[in-house]
Amino acid sequence: MQRMFKCIVIFSLFFAGLIGVSVSHGESDFKVTLLGTSTPAPRPDRFGSSTLVEAGDQKLLFDAGRGVPIRLWQLKVPLSKINVLFITHYHSDHTSGIPDVWLTGWLPPPWGRRTTPFHVIGPVGAKTLMSNLEKAYADDIKIRIEDEKLPPAGIATLVEEFGNDGIVYEKNGVKVIAFEVDHGDAIKPCVGYRIEYKGRAVTISGDTRYNENVIKYGAGSDLFIHEVASAKQELLATSVPVQRIIAHHTTPREAGLVFSKAKAKMAVYTHIVLQSTEKFPEPTLDEVVAETRQTYSGPLTVGEDLMSFEIGESITVRRYTP
Ligand SMILES: [Zn+2]
Ligand SMILES: [Zn+2]
Repeated sequence: MQRMFKCIVIFSLFFAGLIGVSVSHGESDFKVTLLGTSTPAPRPDRFGSSTLVEAGDQKLLFDAGRGVPIRLWQLKVPLSKINVLFITHYHSDHTSGIPDVWLTGWLPPPWGRRTTPFHVIGPVGAKTLMSNLEKAYADDIKIRIEDEKLPPAGIATLVEEFGNDGIVYEKNGVKVIAFEVDHGDAIKPCVGYRIEYKGRAVTISGDTRYNENVIKYGAGSDLFIHEVASAKQELLATSVPVQRIIAHHTTPREAGLVFSKAKAKMAVYTHIVLQSTEKFPEPTLDEVVAETRQTYSGPLTVGEDLMSFEIGESITVRRYTP
């Protein structure tokens, strides 16, 4: 019955034009869940940028934007179970949830209970960010150690920085490779990540404009998670701020090129930047898909918060059901 329900959901999504999908048989222990698919825009349906990758017994978090603890607990994943947080860059829509995951994950209820240091890996800047957070929340930390007797080890941080493309994490068959992306001349460092496990690969573009390095490192990915940005032509032609924003990101047509050149098995959009003003509405997701189709004909999913992807022989896409 459950399987039938799953198939119905998947096929109705397929016919709605939202996703391209194949149905797998058997469970895989390599799974990706989009926790937040938005941008700085404070939307109730899409939280800040964050992606959970589960591989074997490990839970890796990529960016932590607004609302991540809420999304994790919707999945019944205690915040303390995150093994490592990887950061793509230092825009606040990718980092504003970090203090929340770090501090809340230390508290005694079932969604917390971290007793070992909070492990962070990011490009240069991660150490400054975390040490400044320790200063900003020094009073809270001091009070809770004194008052609630919480273990100091659980609020300690373990921060690793890197400056070049290459492997930044390797454990129990999981390999994480960081690669430089191009989010604009002033926004450096900025990276994407490729996660490899049991001969399969997931690539997360991070925030970037069209970039050959993303294609190089994303080549042959089973799941290629890419950002996208779009505005109606009339708005783009007349608004300098909108032109500036779009110039820091990847248009649907360009993202399609990335997916085609990288030969992605399944493409997914996250960090969906849709520009609008009072006069011009934002583009629809159908329009975003249609523009992508000019350059890419493979399976394509427009991500939603808590949508998951089980990566096995083929990929199973599931919408969240509470
Ligand atoms: Zn962003
Ligand atoms: Zn950014």
